[in-house]
Parts: sequence; structure tokens; C-alpha cells
Amino acid sequence: MEEYKVKGLTCANCTRELQEEINKLPSGQTASLSYNTGKLKLESNVDIEKVKKILSSDGAYIEADEHEHEHEHDHHHPTGVNWILLLSLSAGFYIAGFLTDVFFNEYIAIGLFLAATVLSGYQTFIKGLKNLFKLKFNIETLMTIALIGALGIGEWKEGALVAILFGLNEYLEGLGMQKARNSMEKLLAIAPKEATVLDNGQEKIVKISSLKANQIVLVRSGEKIPSDGLVLEGKSSVNEAAITGESMPVEKDKDEPVYGGSINNEGVLKIQITKAYEESSLAKILHLVEEAQETKTPTELFINKFAKYYTPLIMIISAIVMLIPPLFFNGSWGDWFYQGLAVLIVGCPCALVLSSPIAIVSGITKNARNGILVKGGVFLEQLGKIHTIAFDKTGTLTKGQPFVEDYVEYDPKFLQIAASIEKSSSHPIAKAVLRKADGLSLIEPEEITTVSGSGIVAKIDGVTYFLGNEAHMKKVQIEEEIKAQIQQYKRSGMTLVILATTEKVLGIMGISDEIREESADVIQALHEAGIQKTVMLTGDHESTAEKVASKVGLTSYFAGLLPDEKVEKIKELSKGNKVAMIGDGINDAPALATADLGIAMGKGTDSAIETADIVLMQDHLGKLPSAIKSAKKVNSIIKLNITLALGLKLIALLLTIPGLLTLWIAILSDMGATILVTLISLTVLYERK
Ligand code: AMP
Repeated sequence: MEEYKVKGLTCANCTRELQEEINKLPSGQTASLSYNTGKLKLESNVDIEKVKKILSSDGAYIEADEHEHEHEHDHHHPTGVNWILLLSLSAGFYIAGFLTDVFFNEYIAIGLFLAATVLSGYQTFIKGLKNLFKLKFNIETLMTIALIGALGIGEWKEGALVAILFGLNEYLEGLGMQKARNSMEKLLAIAPKEATVLDNGQEKIVKISSLKANQIVLVRSGEKIPSDGLVLEGKSSVNEAAITGESMPVEKDKDEPVYGGSINNEGVLKIQITKAYEESSLAKILHLVEEAQETKTPTELFINKFAKYYTPLIMIISAIVMLIPPLFFNGSWGDWFYQGLAVLIVGCPCALVLSSPIAIVSGITKNARNGILVKGGVFLEQLGKIHTIAFDKTGTLTKGQPFVEDYVEYDPKFLQIAASIEKSSSHPIAKAVLRKADGLSLIEPEEITTVSGSGIVAKIDGVTYFLGNEAHMKKVQIEEEIKAQIQQYKRSGMTLVILATTEKVLGIMGISDEIREESADVIQALHEAGIQKTVMLTGDHESTAEKVASKVGLTSYFAGLLPDEKVEKIKELSKGNKVAMIGDGINDAPALATADLGIAMGKGTDSAIETADIVLMQDHLGKLPSAIKSAKKVNSIIKLNITLALGLKLIALLLTIPGLLTLWIAILSDMGATILVTLISLTVLYERK
């Protein structure tokens, strides 16, 4: 697939039509042209000259050098014509015509009106005539028929006004999307451009694309860290806002990981690059954000489908308006012909087609700036409809750094054997046990089996050991005294780890994991943002679950769940409600995938980015409530936009009944809607937090 940047796409509907044309070319079936990003993707064997020709039929063109010209064309009309100049000239002719008509000479006035019409309408006209010959009825065709009709019945003044307003409408329409795209491009501009590589002690500036893993780079204060890596030398505070959206500086010392795109605030850092830029978290994030803009939401697809039928439908209504009243109700042919022409102009679906994309692109961009990666418009739409949020406990509501708070040993080898078994486990509890047993010599188990959600079975020196929670101890005889100790740990809300053989218990540990400071506030904010139910799903036992749930203020919890039971719970919760699942994206991938919306936290770890629909780049839930609020806002804006666009058209159409619709009211109803829809959608970008 080849990728090109296309400029001059004025309207979502025309973009769809252009793509359809390109799809008809040999090997062009898979080509896609996105209005949201202005990107054209093509198989390399498609004849590019033909594609250019198709694009130019609508005033669009492929940009020569993607990187150097990105911001230069904004104030020009896409075709390279200075559209503002044309429209102003046109308006000047119109006013001159108006004055000449009143004070001077009718015929000179007609000439001036014609000049105004031609200046602002000629592009529409050329396209419209071509379409007419091909019997393709889109808005340009309708406008052309309406204009010819208006001039035909001597409505020079109105014809000119309609041409000017239509031109202005198209211009404004392109402008709104350009604004949303620009703000996304600004986001993409945070990518570092070059790196200072240390090569045998020599500093060498290289392009970011030629930076390789294992190279050593020097980053001075104020410079961007080029790619993910480890600090070899130096100490500094670093701004990771590009990744996490959080501008609080983070202290970095030797051996600590750094992200590409973050800014070094103070000292000089010597960094060993661990990933080429293309593989870095930032590159992946930016790529995803860009891709996200191209996906279409169900609402958008529906509108596009609707728009396809809307224009022909309007033509039929127009014919009815022109014919029925004069034929059956004694209406005047001239009056109703005029009304019918006005109805044709109502056929422009542009404001309607625009009602969704600007708001969605703005919403995705705004969230990305906040360190929240929404992988597509669909997910943004879903986020705004979420009713229930299910949380994983460890690492999500708690810090995910469990520690051994207390233990009782009934055998001196307890810690040593427990640690030897945990050595191969990636469970957070395993790390806690290993820390406790620091310094002890470990034994290599002969056999080891993980029992998901309950523990580990291992064989050491011919003896089978069970390590895990109570449920894992079914084959073990537990004495009353030990049972009492277990109950005590459970009552105080600790997670249990028991080590036993079939004959005896070697020891028990109570493990704690601190609740994150912000959890309670976040849960409250989520309820305020309209989330009805907050549920915790955990493999831990009842007492710990109860303690955490009540401390953070969840509406309910389910304890003692095995991984597949978590999936079942999600399915149950989803009956009739939209459910989001939040986890760290590593242990709970199946539950994330089952929920309507999977949200992962975790600073851009690969697995989190891949599994989830939405990724929180910070290591906490703090920004989630505001993301939900903005998603809700986007959803209600889209609804409002659709109502406005259709409502104004309906009013215009109803005006034909008393015969009050004029050509300029018809075009104004679309322009008004376009302006309103654009402005309302852009408020998503500019609203605070
Ligand atoms: P999980 O659903 O993975 O959180 O596991 C549920 C419970 O099983 C934990 O709370 C522990 O009691 C126990 N468990 C699972 N894996 C281990 C392990 N590697 N070491 C000790 N206990 C474990």
C-alpha cells in the first residue's frame, strides 16, 4: 500500500464519491480516501495519473512533499485559487449590480450579477455539467440545474446570491475539518526529528529514522529524548507529557527507563536506546491516533448511507413541487417552478455529513493530548454510552505492588521453598514473596504447574508442594490452630498465601496491596459523570475484596473469581447494559476483550496498547472521568448536529407549502447548518479538561 496526503477535500460527501471513482480503476478496489485525515491509500500498481485526474475533478490534489508543506495551504482554497479573494470579488460585483439596478440601468445590473455568478459558481458549474452528462446526480448537479433554472426565468439577482452563498458554504465546510486536522497534526509534530548519537566519543547528529537500538545518545537540557531507552549516565527531571499527558516532571536516574518524545528539563542525559523510533511507544501512539481518525462510527456510516439516498429523494420532491400544484390545484407554473428549484438546493447533504467527523476527530485529539488513547471513533462513541464499569483489583484500584505484611512459619524451610516456587511466576504476589526471602539460597524445582487464579503446584526433592490460596489447598489437611490464623489474616483484609504438602502446612503469609490514593475520588467522579454501576472483579477472597470495595466506594464486587469466571461475569453484566472493563492489560486480556469496551492502563506497554480499545497512558485512573465526560459531550453534539442539519432542511421544505421558500433561504438553510455544526463540533477541542 502506498500512502499519499491529499489536500483540498472540501466535503465528506464528495470525498466518498471520489473514493468510489478511484475504486473503479484497475487494482483500485482496495483504495481508501479518508476525509478525516486527508490520507489516500492505494495499491502501488494503481495508475497514479488517473487518480490525480479523478481528484482534480473535485479540486483536490496530492501534496508533493508531506513534511515541508503541511501548514502552508490552510488559508488558500484547496484548488490553489484564493477562494476568499474570489468570493469577495463576487460579492463586490453583486453589491454593484444591486445598486446599479436600483439607481441606474437594469441591463448593466444583469451583466454585473452574471459576473458575480460566474466568479463564485464556475467550479460548481463545470463539475455539475460534467455530472449531468454522466447522469450523476450529486449536489453540484442539483446546484447547476437550479442555477440554470434561476437564470432561465430571469432571477439574475438571486442566482448570483445563491452561487456566492454556495461557494462560501463549501469554503467554510473545508475550513472546519482543516482546523480539526491541524490540531491533530500539531499533536503529531511532537515526534522527535533528530538525535545526537555518541559514536566512539564523537557526537553525530542523525535523522530520527536512522537511529538504531543499542546506540548511545546524548540529550541536553531542553532537548527531546529521541526514542525509548535506559539512562546510562546523568540525572534529570523529564517531562513525559507527550506520552502520558501529564506535565508534572518525573525524576530520572541511572538505569531508569525513558520514553521517546519526552523532554529533558535539566541536566545532560546519556541514554542507551532500546528501540528504534518506529518501535517506540510514542511512534506507536501517534500511529494509532492517526489510524483512529480514519475509522468510521456506526452513526457516520448510517449518515453516509442516508446521504446517498437523500439527494435523489430531494429531486423527486422537487419534481412533485414543480408539477402537482399547477396540474391539480390550479397553481401558477412559474411560481411552482421557482419553488421546485429552491427545493433542489435543499438537496445538499453537506451539513448532515459533517455532523459527525469534526466532533469525533476533535474528541480523539483532545483525549490523546490528555494521554488517553482512543483507538477509533467507535470506541469514543461507546465510551459515552457506558453504564457499568468493571475493575480489576490489583494494579488498577490498588497500587499493584503487594508486600508481605505478616507471616507465620510452621517449618523453618517455609520462606526458602515458597520463594523457590515463586521464582518462575510473573504474578505480582510472587515478587512480594521473593522480596521477603531476599538473601536465601533458592532451589530449582523439578516440576512446576501454574493453576490459574489459585496458585502453583511444584515438586522439589521429590516432595509435592501446593502454594496459593485456600481454594488451592483442597488436598491438604489443615489443623484447627492454623485455620484460626488463616481466618485472622482474612478478617484483616490481607490476601492469603499458604505453602503446604499433602501432610502439613509449612507456613502462611498475609499479603497487602495499598489502595491507590486517588481511587476513591475517581470512583466518585465516575458516578458523577453518569456511570451507574462500578464493580470490582477479583480472584482474591471475599474479605479483601469487601475491604477494598467499601474503601473506594464501589457499588458492588465479586470475589474468588477464576479468569474464565471474570469473563462470565462480564457477559452477565453486559446483558442490556454497556460495560467497560478496566485492567492492566496483561492478566485480564480475555475480560478486556469480552467487555463492550476494554480499557487498559499501563504507560504504553505493548500488550496494553494491543489488547485494549482505550489505553490510559498514565499509570492511574485520574483522567478517566473527564474522558467519559468528553465522550458524552461528543455524542450529544453529534445528536444536536444531526437534528440541526435535518431540522433546518425540514423547515426549508415546509416553507414550500405556503410557497414561501426562496432560493436564498434554501442555500442559507444549509450554510447556517454547516456553520453551526462546525462551530459546535470544534468546542470539543477548546473546552477545558
Ligand atoms: P489472581 O486471580 O491471579 O489474582 O489470583 C487469585 C488468587 O490466587 C490470589 O489472590 C492468590 O491468593 C492466589 N495466587 C495466584 N497465583 C499465585 C502465586 N503465584 N503465588 C501465590 N498465590 C497465588
